[in-house]
Amino acid sequence: MIVRALLDILFPPLCHLCRAPIPGAEKLHLCPACLARAKPIGSPLCTVCGVPFATEGGIDHRCGDCIVSPPPYEGARAAYLFEGPVQELVHRFKYGHKAHLRRPLALLAAERLSSFVAESASDLIIPVPLHRSRLRERGFNQAILMGELLARRWRIPLHRATLGRVRATAPQVGLTSAQRRENIRGAFAVPSPAAVAGRRVLLLDDVFTTGSTIAECALVLRKAGAAAVHAATVARTP
Ligand SMILES: [Zn+2]
Ligand SMILES: [Zn+2]
Repeated sequence: MIVRALLDILFPPLCHLCRAPIPGAEKLHLCPACLARAKPIGSPLCTVCGVPFATEGGIDHRCGDCIVSPPPYEGARAAYLFEGPVQELVHRFKYGHKAHLRRPLALLAAERLSSFVAESASDLIIPVPLHRSRLRERGFNQAILMGELLARRWRIPLHRATLGRVRATAPQVGLTSAQRRENIRGAFAVPSPAAVAGRRVLLLDDVFTTGSTIAECALVLRKAGAAAVHAATVARTP
């Protein structure tokens, strides 16, 4: 520990984003300036899909969309808005092949979502799967990499292969929310329903955009007999 402290003084860790040295850095390795630009999501928000409301103050309640058509999951929460430093971290992590960035992302999620995850009383964590063609081009599944760290932190077992991606889908970018739902339909399957039957599942992904991927996963898991499905993501598009 003394050696470590000395090393930190001589060679302070650098911020993952701007490379500024951070003396006395905690595990996160983001400098105060970068961290200050990140926007955590807090109340008031929708108790189901977790969309933050623009109003100042006020209590959490169901949003109009969740009242009109309740999603197939019990609750979804994201730690931060998908913009600024969080968006940059996710992009570098996924498209820049910087697998080590799973650590700051997992830490950001762990810090903000621990009480939601505890209240969900989930029995297992299921990372949203990638189709093998996407996996080949990226080299890793970002949700599994973060899930490995978060499973340890939250003390919930990680199930890497319980939910499978059976169909490759076109990228969701640029599609309307109805097109996204159509695009993702039938993309997932649970090969052994006994693994989820009667159990409470926590889905994990990096970004919640319209929620169509999370909703489709939740639907398939519920059909396989899951007792409840919650979803946690690091970020959510504003
Ligand atoms: Zn920085
Ligand atoms: Zn909602």
